[in-house]
Amino acid sequence: MTSWKKYERFVAELCSEDYQSTGTTVIPNAKIKGCLSKTIRQVDVLIDSRFGDDRDRRIIVDAKKYNRTLNVKDVESFHGMMIDFSSKVGILVCPNGYSTAAKKRAQDFINLKIVSLEELEDIDLESWDDCLSDNCNEKSKRGLVLWDAPMGIGSSASPVSISCIGKCDVCGDFHIWCWDCGKKFSLSDESEAKCNCKHPWFWLTATEDDEASSNDNEQSTSVYLLLVTPLDALIADRKPLS
Ligand SMILES: [Zn+2]
Ligand SMILES: [Zn+2]
Repeated sequence: MTSWKKYERFVAELCSEDYQSTGTTVIPNAKIKGCLSKTIRQVDVLIDSRFGDDRDRRIIVDAKKYNRTLNVKDVESFHGMMIDFSSKVGILVCPNGYSTAAKKRAQDFINLKIVSLEELEDIDLESWDDCLSDNCNEKSKRGLVLWDAPMGIGSSASPVSISCIGKCDVCGDFHIWCWDCGKKFSLSDESEAKCNCKHPWFWLTATEDDEASSNDNEQSTSVYLLLVTPLDALIADRKPLS
């Protein structure tokens, strides 16, 4: 892995620590359609509402892998990207600091954050799981799974069971890790899967219109990860498409 790729990945990990369990989802290397450009664009990390569209919660994070300091133009082009992603808050991460003008241009809605390359040295690469999806079958480009905090799933029929949800940072596929049987598996979009346990539920992915869309211009859609129980289909996670 190149050190910049590792840097990007480390930044995603930091975002995940900062933003998990607050009703938000952290998507590494997200690809969504810009509201102005009408083009699919990539952003290093997308932090978004987990259960439905809420643009007020959207934060985009870009890791600027520059050996120089950030300048005012870097901040300006990032601001343009924020507008295209309809994100009101942004975080620009860089290893080598920023100019005074860059700081002023960032104002309050762009957070300039320094993460030094030295911080990468303590990272344990072993704790990152390879993507399990067929969409990442080219070994040289296989992605890594970014896991969320463990979540409890309860039902009256069985005691609480613990699972983790993750997303691949290359193909974006959802991953599930069941702590009861230890099985880890991926779900491509529009599919369903179960672990080895005899739980009365299964996992399903579906592309659906967002309810309560806060995007005035057009209906937004997302890929939803649903936990389907005998009684209900609960939203477990979400990947917005725009
Ligand atoms: Zn993948
Ligand atoms: Zn299981």
